[in-house]
Parts: sequence; structure tokens; C-alpha cells
Amino acid sequence: MNLYEMGIDGPVVCTQCKERYCTRCPEDALSIGSLGQVIVSPTLCTICGICEKACPIGAIETFNEIVYVCDLCGGRPKCIEACTEGAITYDTKGNKHPSLAKFKNEKNKKNPSQKRYTYIKKQGLELRKKWRKGHA
Ligand code: SF4
Ligand code: SF4
Repeated sequence: MNLYEMGIDGPVVCTQCKERYCTRCPEDALSIGSLGQVIVSPTLCTICGICEKACPIGAIETFNEIVYVCDLCGGRPKCIEACTEGAITYDTKGNKHPSLAKFKNEKNKKNPSQKRYTYIKKQGLELRKKWRKGHA
């Protein structure tokens, strides 16, 4: 998500949030894998869009009758191999399930793209503030 006007640019993927807002699927088409990743069953999914509305940061989205969410490529994320700058790491330690409670009001208000915008803006501004403090 590029916020060129603010000089902020960052990816938005599933954070495996603590609340798992998206997984209240009426068809039981969403499950959690052994890596904590969200897994979509294409046979059970009816593309109702409930999970898309439920994620407060726009990390799961329906497009062309398919539900897209980062599933860690089964443990070998392709984005890490593809990034020529080495800007992405796969951290299996640390806080694996951050709370997205502070974004929960975004859930039904906006479309996924708008939610991603709000998330990156807030995260980016906080990071910038921290960075400025560290370089003051
Ligand atoms: S609600 Fe969003 S961030 Fe949380 S598990 Fe689902 S897709 Fe991932
Ligand atoms: S779009 Fe599919 S996976 Fe998402 S809530 Fe609806 S049935 Fe479940």
C-alpha cells in the first residue's frame, strides 16, 4: 500500500491476529493451519464475503470468486524469495498473534483497500515517530 503523499509504503498481509475476526465463517470454510496461517477451503467457500468484511486491516479479500489471504505458502513464503532487496523476513519467534483490536472499528466501514490504507497510515506514522525519537 503506497501512501506517496506521506512518504509511507508498506505491505499488508494477514498478521495472524489474536482475534481471528475473519474465521467466523458460516460455512466453516476457514481453518487455522499448524503455522497459524488462515486456510480457505475452496470447496466449502460460497464467496459470501463475510470474512472480507470482518478483517479490520483488509488482509483477506474476495476477487474473481476466489478468497485471497496469505497462507505462508505452506511455510516457504514465495515473497521472501522474490524480494530482491531482502526486505522481508519470516519470523517464527516473537509476538506471533498481535491484537488488531485498535482497528476493529474499521471492520464493516470500508472496503479492503480503504482498510489497508488506514492500517498502513497508522502503523507508518507510529514507526516514523519512533524513528524520529531514536534520531533526535
Ligand atoms: S482477521 Fe485479518 S489479520 Fe486477522 S487472521 Fe483474519 S485475515 Fe488475518
Ligand atoms: S467468503 Fe468463503 S471463506 Fe469467507 S466467510 Fe464467506 S464462505 Fe467463509
